[in-house]
Amino acid sequence: MRGRANLALFAGRKGECMKAALYEGVRTVRLVDRPVPVAGPGEAVLQIQYCGICGTDMHVYFEGLLPPGIVLGHENVGTVAEVGPGVEGFQVGDRVVAGPPGPCGRCYQCLHGRPSICIDGFEHTNGLRRDGGMAEYMLVRDAEQMLFLIPDELSFEDAVLVDTMATAYRGIIQSAFRLGDNIVVSGAGPIGLSAIQFLRIGGARHITALEIVDARKELARELGADLVLDPTEHGDRLSERIMALHGGVGADVVVESAGVPRSFELCLTLARAGGQVLNLGVTEQTAAVAPAFIVRRELDIKSSLGYGGGGGGQVSVLSVERQVQYKRVAVRHHPPKRPRGEGFPQARHGQNADQGGGGPSNRVVRRGRTGPPEPGRKPAIRRASRRSCGGQGFVLETSSKRERRGGPS
Ligand SMILES: [Zn+2]
Ligand SMILES: [Zn+2]
Repeated sequence: MRGRANLALFAGRKGECMKAALYEGVRTVRLVDRPVPVAGPGEAVLQIQYCGICGTDMHVYFEGLLPPGIVLGHENVGTVAEVGPGVEGFQVGDRVVAGPPGPCGRCYQCLHGRPSICIDGFEHTNGLRRDGGMAEYMLVRDAEQMLFLIPDELSFEDAVLVDTMATAYRGIIQSAFRLGDNIVVSGAGPIGLSAIQFLRIGGARHITALEIVDARKELARELGADLVLDPTEHGDRLSERIMALHGGVGADVVVESAGVPRSFELCLTLARAGGQVLNLGVTEQTAAVAPAFIVRRELDIKSSLGYGGGGGGQVSVLSVERQVQYKRVAVRHHPPKRPRGEGFPQARHGQNADQGGGGPSNRVVRRGRTGPPEPGRKPAIRRASRRSCGGQGFVLETSSKRERRGGPS
């Protein structure tokens, strides 16, 4: 029953063991034995069904963006396996998305209406600072703020993309975009393809997508772009082309969703004077920008981080109403028996294990063994394997029956 305080359930699971994919450094992810987490007050434990690999994970895996020793995975969907004392509105068996950490409610940003940049937020994000969803179970610290129910009509496989879609959605909502605007979207990866769909239903007059990968160009067209241009084919003349398209003044809003410095530099040249560049792409590399160019044109540079403070619920409603498509913004990967981080290189090259290469770069990794239940049906809660747990540092070389124990090598 909803609305009542749940007592901690399944408390007897203490000491049981689960498998988790531990990030041990650049290009190294190992399957390890970990204790199944137990929910404390205000917390919940999810049995993970799907976990997305996004651009941030790629920076971690290939470049070492985060220190080792964490279970990655910050785009997670699953079934509530345990609710801690005091959690209201959720019960065991609920199908949920685990969103960003809730705002602390006390810091300057929270008190001034900016929960997405709460000073505390990053420290409490599963998969970035706390263990994430590349495991059988995941502890959610702030259940009432972080979880939201998946509508019956939405499968787990689609719902795991709420994170990506909602990030784009929130960016558009926060931007200067208005009905009838001319738009350029630079980069038709998962964020760009999501943005194109929201801009379309939001009443964009004309959308130009910039993309270099053929399969993504096609998708951008199918999901709502009026024109797709390959920036490598136009070189310095791209800006002239965009100006000419829009009465010689340029685009009202330019969305940067490629996450590379060159794209950001280019976007500045495509916006009209007084227009806006919405920066959704993330890169640690430096872009070359002359501040005078921005000032002379009174360009507005706007950014948006994740979707803390809302957006996930609205996005899933739009999907249920079939106004946006989830399935095609990411490729899917079902892990092999011996996972060694295969999803990461495939994500980087946009390859789909099922269909061959060339799709967007976000990947959805399904947890092993069984598939998700039918949408709308509450799944049975399975318990973690009932062996005693070796604890952190004991490596299961494979997910097969043959378990070889020993310290990480
Ligand atoms: Zn992400
Ligand atoms: Zn805060």
